[in-house]
Amino acid sequence: MDFRPTDEQELLRRTVREFAEAEMRPHVMEWDEAQHFPMELLPKLASLGLLGIQFAEEYGGAALSAVDYCICIEELARVCPAIALSVAAHNGLCSSHIALFGNETQRRQYLPRLIRGEVLGAWGLTEANAGSDAAAMRTTAARQGDCWVLNGSKNFITHGAIGGVIVVMAATDRSQSHRGISAFIVEHGTPGMTAGKKENKLGMRASDTSEVIFQDCRISSAQLLGEEGKGFINTLQILDSGRIGIAALSVGLAQGAYEAARHYALERRQFGQTIAGFQAIQWKLVDAATRIEGARLLTYRAAYLKDQGARTTKESSMAKLHASETAVRVADDCVQIHGGYGFVKDYPAEKYFRDVKLLTIGEGTSEIQRLVIARQLLGRA
Ligand SMILES: Cc1cc2nc3c(=O)[nH]c(=O)nc-3n(C[C@H](O)[C@H](O)[C@H](O)COP(=O)(O)OP(=O)(O)OC[C@H]3O[C@@H](n4cnc5c(N)ncnc54)[C@H](O)[C@@H]3O)c2cc1C
Repeated sequence: MDFRPTDEQELLRRTVREFAEAEMRPHVMEWDEAQHFPMELLPKLASLGLLGIQFAEEYGGAALSAVDYCICIEELARVCPAIALSVAAHNGLCSSHIALFGNETQRRQYLPRLIRGEVLGAWGLTEANAGSDAAAMRTTAARQGDCWVLNGSKNFITHGAIGGVIVVMAATDRSQSHRGISAFIVEHGTPGMTAGKKENKLGMRASDTSEVIFQDCRISSAQLLGEEGKGFINTLQILDSGRIGIAALSVGLAQGAYEAARHYALERRQFGQTIAGFQAIQWKLVDAATRIEGARLLTYRAAYLKDQGARTTKESSMAKLHASETAVRVADDCVQIHGGYGFVKDYPAEKYFRDVKLLTIGEGTSEIQRLVIARQLLGRA
């Protein structure tokens, strides 16, 4: 057991950190206020390999490990959690689904464009009345000759309005419940597919979250992704990996908030000394630093096991649950340490506090993570 990062991993962390500081930090509040996803960042993210982190070189990917993936997402989230969320959804949901379950033609058709950043990837599972209970989805895909016809709508979809390619789950046989759900690849601009309401969000505002509507949207049978009826089962595998990404995002956000709080505590003076001299503030910082290290270890362990080819359902959910709840606590303490200045937009504390809440909700709420872990620990007791 060796807890030290390799020299290559140190270099990767430094490279992504420098990129995030130079290219993202100066614009974070502007993107947040405007709810603007900076498409102009895509070529730069792509040139660093950040839009194809774990995909094979033959498709243009960086062919890095799951642990390396965590390092990248962590460093982006430390500076701008919303951009990290978009990068995680692009890599970990849409592109991963195509890489893992697509056939060779589909991989060759879509992965290079996604990896080069020519298009952003979206992934549509959630519906207005099917969130945690995703298998209750109402969107259908009906076979008509050599085509599938999609009807229904997906909501809360990251890149729902700006994504060029969406992987969408739809019921192909309602009588089979979750075994009757299949996945499809739909390209932006396909007649019958439109973006609906763009959400006006509490946090993660630079990351587009929109409804996607399908009305007699006709796609060729070649757009079926994976086996018919296996869409939901494949989705659970995608989420096992995706949750490691959200755990890494949580670790990065918490790290950013902790650093901001530490910096402020060493500068701010009250009662004739820096507030970092007060034990009450020291303990908050100590607890934050300790909890972040714990969350990071759980996250890297899940990623390491994934790299070994193990199934990580329990480990991914534990990492996501612990890291996201840690991040909520650290972001809260970060505001508290800033006092009134934590409540205004001149300091980064308030944005971490707004962004962080998504992490205990997206890709399965904390309650659902506990349910998944309970099943792993107890079976269907
Ligand atoms: C910014 C953002 C981006 C997103 N991006 C995507 C995306 O790209 N693709 C996508 O498909 N989805 C996406 N989502 C959707 C997200 O995954 C869902 O919001 C999430 O799974 C929760 O579903 P829900 O909102 O319908 O809540 P609900 O399922 O209605 O849950 C409401 C509450 O009930 C609790 N609850 C539900 N069932 C149980 C149970 N069995 N036991 C105990 N408690 C329970 C929940 O934990 C929660 O506290 C995104 C959401 C947001 C906010």
